[in-house]
Amino acid sequence: MYPIDLSGKTGIVFGVANHRSIAWAIAQILHQAGARLAIVYQNERLKENVEKLVADWDDPLLVQCDVSSDDNVAATFDWLRDEAGGLDIIVHSIAFANRDDLGGRFVDTGREGFQVALEISAYSLVAITRYGAPLMRANGGSILTLTFQASTRVFPGYNVMGTAKAALENEVRQLASDLGPDNVRVNAISAGPLDTLSSRVISDYRDMKRIHAERSPMGRNITHDEVAKTALYLCSDLSSGVTGEILHVDTGYNIMGI
Ligand code: NAD
Repeated sequence: MYPIDLSGKTGIVFGVANHRSIAWAIAQILHQAGARLAIVYQNERLKENVEKLVADWDDPLLVQCDVSSDDNVAATFDWLRDEAGGLDIIVHSIAFANRDDLGGRFVDTGREGFQVALEISAYSLVAITRYGAPLMRANGGSILTLTFQASTRVFPGYNVMGTAKAALENEVRQLASDLGPDNVRVNAISAGPLDTLSSRVISDYRDMKRIHAERSPMGRNITHDEVAKTALYLCSDLSSGVTGEILHVDTGYNIMGI
């Protein structure tokens, strides 16, 4: 569809839950560009959804992995090494916080909820990179994660997930520094609001989305496809000199003061 050829490349995409998942939009565009992909789903409950999504792909690789366990992450990449030999692209599109912590006042966030949100939404990128980067070939690779502007500004309702995104964005820079000498690039897309399973749990999500459309320079919300197209750029050689970057795909919302 776009003149970017990823044939001969292998990618792994974490975070496909259903057809609305940002991970699925990214997986589709990487697949169309010719990459061979492993799709990772969290648990048995999501397996059937994911099998249906890839039903018309030739030779899809599917694997279950709950990233709360390092053993699971390590086993996933061991499996991928056996199946595919090497790796060029990792997409981390995972976040989780307890529903109670995505509404009300941030000050009421408990220790356990804080730990869960940070572990699943931020630490998982470190674990995935630690076990996945060694599979990347001599000519390097690209690692991509998804963040949100609540990392730097207050979005009521986003609460502890804003803290997790701040940690995640810091990790992008530290991992980019660690892996730069291996020609492995690490970047994030900071996406505007999109209807997904995760976003709908945020208590003020509807208002957030409406205000985004009203106040962004382009006067509308973004689409899944716009995130996917930017992901294609960041996962391909077109962005060969870009690392440690947080790239906004938000119709310009983040630049506005009022
Ligand atoms: P989604 O619910 O489709 O995806 C979240 C994924 O995280 C799911 O596939 C879920 O199974 C997975 N996950 C949660 N806990 C896990 C665990 N322990 N192990 C493995 N996987 C686990 O929602 P989405 O909106 O596509 O979210 C993807 C990413 O995009 C998240 O990081 C989210 O914060 C980010 N993001 C979303 C929006 C938005 O408005 N939807 C905006 C900016 C950034």
